[in-house]
Amino acid sequence: MKKILFTALFLSLLQVGFNSNIIAQAAESVEITGKLAQKFAAGITDADLKTHLYMIASDEFEGRNTGEPGQKLAAEYLKDFYISKNIASPLGENNYFQIISTEHLSQNLKPSENVVAFIKGSEKPDEILVISAHYDHLGMDEDGEIYNGADDNGSGTVAVMAIAEAFQKAVEEGNGPKRSILFLHVTGEEKGLLGSKYYVNFPIFPLANTVSNLNIDMIGRSDDAHENDPNYVYLIGSDKLSKELHELSEEMNNKFTKLNLDYTYNLDSDPNRFYYRSDQYNFAKNNIPVIFYFNGTHENYHRISDTPDKINYELLAKRTQLVFYTAWEIANREKRITVDK
Ligand SMILES: [Zn+2]
Repeated sequence: MKKILFTALFLSLLQVGFNSNIIAQAAESVEITGKLAQKFAAGITDADLKTHLYMIASDEFEGRNTGEPGQKLAAEYLKDFYISKNIASPLGENNYFQIISTEHLSQNLKPSENVVAFIKGSEKPDEILVISAHYDHLGMDEDGEIYNGADDNGSGTVAVMAIAEAFQKAVEEGNGPKRSILFLHVTGEEKGLLGSKYYVNFPIFPLANTVSNLNIDMIGRSDDAHENDPNYVYLIGSDKLSKELHELSEEMNNKFTKLNLDYTYNLDSDPNRFYYRSDQYNFAKNNIPVIFYFNGTHENYHRISDTPDKINYELLAKRTQLVFYTAWEIANREKRITVDK
């Protein structure tokens, strides 16, 4: 009898100690998650982004027109980058290209490819976050002048590279994401969102397991409306399918990047209809919550004057970090974000 009482008392004391430990650990893990995210976000630098963007938007890549030699060079550049960083392909081995035949593009286009890289989640590997940006652009005009497309969408392309590199560093230090992340460089955007359309029709991972798509298309410049306060980015779509995604995105920005999030183009009444005009829409159409990151249009938009010397690299780095923090939270939070609309 005594012995049992003693054991019961001992167990209940143990229980109290254990519970308070759990609470302490939970608080600590939030703290650690924030600090960890900050540590790896700091690896996203304006210098690295600039180095890559001067390559992606160089004359050598001839405006990255879908299916043309310049775009193939850009695809090789992306592939070499992922190999050099030890970031795997979801297709296995050194196969980083999801090849799209003319039949799935349009009659006047040569076959082209989405470039894909992958980090496998440590706890929920079957749940996938897709971080995307198109890497194609307009090619050259009749006079052979090159559309360098530094902002559109060299900026998004190098942002995806930098985010992948930051997550890979976290993996190497034992802090990899719980969910898997697919880094998706889509082709054929300028021809009608063709690469992302192909991806959702022939997904590498089931769309039902795809928790969210963060899409970046033009984040290296400012538009006229923000001439005097460039510390901003337009967010489009964040609240359309998931309240949780919208709140999480706001929370990460309030905590870390403190950009002015401008929702002007998120209004259903906005005549520009940007929500439907970049690659995120192919995911949204399939009920996958999305956020589209965008700086708005400017005088060099779709002109040969969209060159890398006009990019604000500090701003590009900050906006890239916002996407990274948001991705970190989506990939690591306890439960998959909820679709509620
Ligand atoms: Zn674009």
